[in-house]
Amino acid sequence: MEAENTVRQPAKSPIRRAVSATVLVAALWLGAGIGTASALVQTPSGTPSHEDILRGFDASALSASRDDVAYGGSYDPVGMIIKWQKPIVYKIEGLRARPEAITLAIATLKQQAALAGIAVRAAGAPSEANYTIAFRNVANFDLGDRKAVCYLTYNFNTLGHMQWASLQINLAAPDLERCVRHEILHGFGLLNHPHHLQSVLSYRTDVSDLTEADLVMLRSLYDARITPAMSRLAALVTVDGLIEANRRALNPRAPPKTDPAPVLRDAIADLEKAAANGNVRAMMYLAEAAWQGYGMAKNPGRVQALIDRAATTRDVIARFDLAHALGSGRYVPRDPARSAALYRRNAELGHAVSQNNYAVALRDGIGVPVDRTAALVWFTLAAHGNVAMAERSRQILAKTLPPEQQQEAMRRVAAWKPVPEAAR
Ligand SMILES: [Zn+2]
Repeated sequence: MEAENTVRQPAKSPIRRAVSATVLVAALWLGAGIGTASALVQTPSGTPSHEDILRGFDASALSASRDDVAYGGSYDPVGMIIKWQKPIVYKIEGLRARPEAITLAIATLKQQAALAGIAVRAAGAPSEANYTIAFRNVANFDLGDRKAVCYLTYNFNTLGHMQWASLQINLAAPDLERCVRHEILHGFGLLNHPHHLQSVLSYRTDVSDLTEADLVMLRSLYDARITPAMSRLAALVTVDGLIEANRRALNPRAPPKTDPAPVLRDAIADLEKAAANGNVRAMMYLAEAAWQGYGMAKNPGRVQALIDRAATTRDVIARFDLAHALGSGRYVPRDPARSAALYRRNAELGHAVSQNNYAVALRDGIGVPVDRTAALVWFTLAAHGNVAMAERSRQILAKTLPPEQQQEAMRRVAAWKPVPEAAR
């Protein structure tokens, strides 16, 4: 549960790029001189095993593909689930010279949306679209650090809800069908590349349509039990059974399910490494695993030790994430007092969203004694920091306070100065 009016961290714009680069990747990797083709892409033989698909899900849905780094791609050891919750409203942009390409893109989008159970329709007006499919005709797209045949940009909020996606489809792509299906599948939340899998998302040039593994991953990602913003271990533990069920429904003769333990062990090792390097989210996710028993025995002592360590962070955003987790009971056991204390530290530094959330705690007495004058101070400061909800809360709260308390609050607002972290 979450306090009313608490603001979640506003959608930052962590626009990550997922790149399909069939031919260019080969050029990149030859140029970079990294290993050999066989070392980078194992040729999957025959039907993938259950473990192959589970690892593929980890690599693509949770962006935990180590192999991708070899291709200049990103690797997120603390990745979380991102998926659409609202209908997709698309628009077509760019070149119209190839109507069959447009038809293919729309049909592919509809096909994958149907598999995901997400509604899709054409935008009535361009401004209502949350999904753009743009057609270009270029030798390749220059993304600064690398070149791509086709690519996708996207945005999600901290609840893991996909907000918008924009696909750039290159009509000059050597395999247009592969480009279209690859990017559209990325756009559903399978955001990275399972190179070891028979998948249209891998950089295998011989795969241009969805494979059995792709269908299973997409269906499993959109099962209601896989929730947006789910952490890596929680998602892997839950998706294990979903992969088996979806796979069996599609292919009754699939090889028997294997134990997920090796996949979980690798994910835990990634998180431990990230936590050792100071990554607060990794600490939170490990705390969750030790709390819920994901891939490890339940261990309340370890849960507290991890939260204690995470709480020492000096990073404002990481501290906000932890405060939010402790306030909501997401990932870690709910601890309103500690949540309020962390919001307060951020508030004193001048972090506007934390100021709003600390004000909510003071107004409602969540983890701190009720102090409505102080709440008015922090709502006002947060409103000055452009938190829209804070201005509304400020107005409503001010009406309930006697004039002298309002004046006292205004006096404190005028005198307020941020306290730098170094001054603590
Ligand atoms: Zn890609």
